[in-house]
Amino acid sequence: MNAEYPTTTDAGISGQVDETRPDLSNSNVREDLALTGRCALVHLPSGRTCLLPLRHPGPCDFHGPGEAADVVSASH
Ligand SMILES: [Zn+2]
Repeated sequence: MNAEYPTTTDAGISGQVDETRPDLSNSNVREDLALTGRCALVHLPSGRTCLLPLRHPGPCDFHGPGEAADVVSASH
């Protein structure tokens, strides 16, 4: 297989950022929400937070700070 290996020396550079998981590249988690068992990832450009369960399938579903506060207060 090595004989037909393409000369992609830049593969390690361009392939480093996992663009399919932007939530991981700038992983900002609200700890108060994370403690309630939520995904709690913060969408930095909007400041909204994912309220789905931890390790939920599919993309994050971001909600505003009001809804996030409801989840936190409901867990106490
Ligand atoms: Zn999420």
